[in-house]
Amino acid sequence: MKTWIPPERFLPYLTWKQVDALPRDRTLMVLPTAAIEQHGHHLPLATDTLINNLLLGHALQKLPKDLPVYALAPVHYGKSNEHVGYPGTLSLHRDTFMAVLRDLGRSLKAAGFQRLVFFNSHGGNHSLIDVMARDLRDELGLRTFCLYGGGPAEGVCAQEAAYGFHAGEVETALLLAGTPELVHTDQYTSNYIARVGDPGLLKPEFASATFSWLTRDIAPSGVMGDPSPATAENGWRWCEAMSDRIARALVEMHDFQEILER
Ligand SMILES: [Zn+2]
Repeated sequence: MKTWIPPERFLPYLTWKQVDALPRDRTLMVLPTAAIEQHGHHLPLATDTLINNLLLGHALQKLPKDLPVYALAPVHYGKSNEHVGYPGTLSLHRDTFMAVLRDLGRSLKAAGFQRLVFFNSHGGNHSLIDVMARDLRDELGLRTFCLYGGGPAEGVCAQEAAYGFHAGEVETALLLAGTPELVHTDQYTSNYIARVGDPGLLKPEFASATFSWLTRDIAPSGVMGDPSPATAENGWRWCEAMSDRIARALVEMHDFQEILER
């Protein structure tokens, strides 16, 4: 898989002796979590994994050279059962996904490391990661952090900003920037599963009253959003802004001290 992670910050490229020499209490281990799942007719299954790597890679390139921050090999598969029924979607059961995160946390803890960041770029993983981050804090004493990929994309219309969350303008623009050879620009489809102007309280996402959804019920082509305004230029602009924010968050996580210790 294409990667933008600087090789000197990719943990699997180190030897165990090099890892042994890292400062145990300060080193920030970043575990990318993503998905292999349908992204409409026009984007590849690995979209969330590629975006994760693009943003994290650029963020890591922006860190001060001496800051001990390392990317682990990504967990490519996520909990993607909302996209079941689309060929190529490969989903882990929630228990499997949680067990993988717990085992990796245990492995880091066994080596004496203290700080673990979950850097997630697939919405279906969010709630599980929140739970696991607290459990690992409680069970292993790890200092765990959650960092969610993306963030606001400047210049996107209100409708797309609210409901363009799967294979829409932002994801398409980021792939037009990073892997344009994988974007089928003649295959765009568009679908919104809610409207920002709708006064109803019940929404599929981002509301106090929600309904559980499966993609096949509400967006048959697999797209939730509108990819058609996407450009590579905006993709690079958003990559820049998002990776700035991620780099800043990583510095704060490295510097973080428990409130009781301050
Ligand atoms: Zn996606």
